[in-house]
Amino acid sequence: MLTLTNVCTYYGAIQALDQVNVQVNQGEIVTLIGANGAGKTTLLMTVCGSPRASSGSVVFEGKDITQQPTHLIMRNGIALSPEGRRVFPDLTVSENLKMGGFFLSKADIEAGEDHVYELFPRLKERAQQRAGTMSGGEQQMLAIGRALMTQPRLLLLDEPTLGLAPLIIAQIFEIIQTIRDEGVTVFLVEQNANKALQIADRAYVLETGKVIMEDTGQNLLANDEVRKAYLGG
Ligand code: ATP
Repeated sequence: MLTLTNVCTYYGAIQALDQVNVQVNQGEIVTLIGANGAGKTTLLMTVCGSPRASSGSVVFEGKDITQQPTHLIMRNGIALSPEGRRVFPDLTVSENLKMGGFFLSKADIEAGEDHVYELFPRLKERAQQRAGTMSGGEQQMLAIGRALMTQPRLLLLDEPTLGLAPLIIAQIFEIIQTIRDEGVTVFLVEQNANKALQIADRAYVLETGKVIMEDTGQNLLANDEVRKAYLGG
């Protein structure tokens, strides 16, 4: 579904991704783990075309999107829930969701909102609450819900559990699996490597911009090197 081939991405003179090869197949949860600064966010953002890969290719559903403008990429089957949630704090939950689908028809926005409320009953209860007054976990649900408004086929999730309490983290991981079960392919960046590998079909380990390992989630969980470096021994 998504194939990155020999992707290199730079910020000015700084190389953030070095010859990255990654594949995400339809129906999978694929996770990307790695230390701070390894280039995980850059990889997701490169899929979205901002920053653009300076060499190599990004192909989505058979179409080369390496040079496509970001707004077109995001309208054609890919959605991103960014690191730090970035909800609009002064807008209500309902308004935030509508922003996620601002370019859709009124009917599609309504259908999208209903679908998000089915997935997240908590958001329905709080539809008229200002997003900035919600808890971190609720804001994360909103950020994921907003990304789902476009009915993406591929959902990119950047650190969805960052800074959340264990109980909420468990809920977010359950929701990610539900989203996949509904037919949305998930590419997940996580600091919480242990949990991410448990739900992932396959996973990649990124180190200073390079993919250094790839395997099934289960195999990486059992791998000594991964355990020492990313799972606390
Ligand atoms: P974290 O887990 O801390 O979010 P990450 O693995 O997502 O880290 P990136 O944010 O992709 O890593 O950063 C990869 C490298 O690119 C880092 O060295 C970072 O300093 C650099 N970088 C990221 N964004 C920019 C930018 N806008 N301008 C210059 N350098 C950047």
